[in-house]
Amino acid sequence: MIVMKFGGTSVESAEAVARVCEIVRARLDQRPVVIVSAMGKTTNRLLAMARHAAAGNRDEALRECEELHRFHRAEALPLPKPEERADLEKLLDEHFQELSELLRGLAILGELTPRSLDAVASYGERLSAQILAAALRGRGVAAEALDSRRLIVTDRRFTQATPLFAETNARLARTIPPLARERVPVLGGFIGATEEGVTTTLGRGGSDFTASIVGAALDVGEIQIWTDVDGMLTADPNLVEGARRVKTISFAEAAELAYFGAKVLHPATVLPAVEKNIPVLILNSRRPQAAGTRIVAETVPCRNPVKSIACKRGITVVDVHSTRMLMAHGFLHRIFEVFDECETAVDLLATSEVSVSLTIDNTERLEEIAARLRQFAEVGIEQRQAIVCLVGDNIRYTPGIAARTFGALAGINVRMISQGASLRNLSFVVAEDDAPRAVRALHEEFFREADPEVFE
Ligand code: ASP
Ligand code: MG
Repeated sequence: MIVMKFGGTSVESAEAVARVCEIVRARLDQRPVVIVSAMGKTTNRLLAMARHAAAGNRDEALRECEELHRFHRAEALPLPKPEERADLEKLLDEHFQELSELLRGLAILGELTPRSLDAVASYGERLSAQILAAALRGRGVAAEALDSRRLIVTDRRFTQATPLFAETNARLARTIPPLARERVPVLGGFIGATEEGVTTTLGRGGSDFTASIVGAALDVGEIQIWTDVDGMLTADPNLVEGARRVKTISFAEAAELAYFGAKVLHPATVLPAVEKNIPVLILNSRRPQAAGTRIVAETVPCRNPVKSIACKRGITVVDVHSTRMLMAHGFLHRIFEVFDECETAVDLLATSEVSVSLTIDNTERLEEIAARLRQFAEVGIEQRQAIVCLVGDNIRYTPGIAARTFGALAGINVRMISQGASLRNLSFVVAEDDAPRAVRALHEEFFREADPEVFE
C-alpha cells in the first residue's frame, strides 16, 4: 500500500481533480490510500465566514457560504458518473444547508470558540473527499470516501488537536486494508474527532499530518505528498532565480526545513513517518513525471555542506534584559514560564549573562507576554523580522561555514545568531526587508557548484 496526499491546489478545480484521478489510476497496482485537502482556498474562506458570522455580519457570512456552494457545484458536478450526479448535488446541498445553519447560530451567539471554528473548517475536507471519490468513480476507478472523523481520534485541543495514536491506529488498521483491496479509500485530511465524536482539526496544513498518521498506522511502503511544486528546492524560487531541486534529503534536514518552508510540508508530517522509516516523496501534480524530492531516514552523502536555505518572514524578536538578574539563577525559567503560560512557541534563542533574545511567530498574545515580562525585566520588541536558516547534515562536519556565511552577508545587519544543538542548522535574524538580499547572497556562496548526485 502507499499513501497519496493531494493538497488544496491539486484539487482546486474540476480540471485539477481530473488530473489527480489519472495520477491515482496510474498507481492502482500499489493499492493507494488517498488523503485530500479542501479544494483551493476553501479553508480560508470557511474561517472567514465563521468570523464574519460571529462578528455579527450574518448576511455577509451567508453570502460567502452561498458563493462557496456555487464554487463547489461548478467544479464538482461535472465529475461524477451521470447516474451519480444527483446524489452528489444533494450531498452538496445538505452540507451547505447545515453550514449555513451553523453560521446563523454563530451570528446569534456572537462568539467564536475554537470548537466551533473546527466545526466550520471541517466542511472543506468533508466535501473534497466525497468529490474526489465520486470523480474517481466517474473515471471508472472504484473508490469510496470515508469520514476521517470516524478514524482519526484526537484530544480536545480544538484547532490544534493531536491524535490519540493507539485508538487511531487500531481504527485505521481495522478499516482501511480490507477496503483498499477492492476500492481506493479517500479520506479528508486535516480533520478528526474526539472520542465523543466532536469534530476537531489538526492545525493549518494538517492534511500532511493525516497522510503520515495513516501511512505510519498502515506501515505503507511510501507516502507521496502531491503539491504544486517540484519538491524541495535549494531556496525559494521567488527569491532566487537559480534555485535547484533537491533530489534526496534526510528526515532530519526535512524536519528543520519544514518549519521554515512550511509551504511544502507540514513540520509534524515527518514524525510518524520517521518512526516507521517510511520514505516520503514530494511530487508535483501539475508535472507528475517530475522526480520530486525523496525524504529518507539516513543522511545523504553530499559534497555541499548546505542542502537548502530557508527563510521565514513575519518574525518578532523579543529582547528581555535585566541587570538585577546578573548572576541570578532562575531567570530563563521565569521567562519561559511566561511563554509557556501564554501558549506561545519560541523558535530561536540567544542569551548573554543579562539578556535574552528570542523569536516568536505567533503574536496573538504578545501584549500579555510583554506585560508579564516587564514585571521583572526590561523588554524590547521588534517586529517585521525574518529568520534565515541554512540547513544541511554536513554543516557540522564542515569547518568555516560561519565565516563563509557572514562573509557573504557583508553589509547586511544580522540581529541574532543561533546554531541549534543538532548543528544541522545555522539560523540568524535579519530585518524582513533585508531577507531577499541575504538569501540570494548565501545561495550564490553555497550553491555556485552543486553536487549533481543530490541537486538538479
Ligand atoms: N485545508 C487545511 C488548510 O488549508 C489543511 C490542509 O490543506 O492541509 O490548512
Ligand atoms: Mg496544504
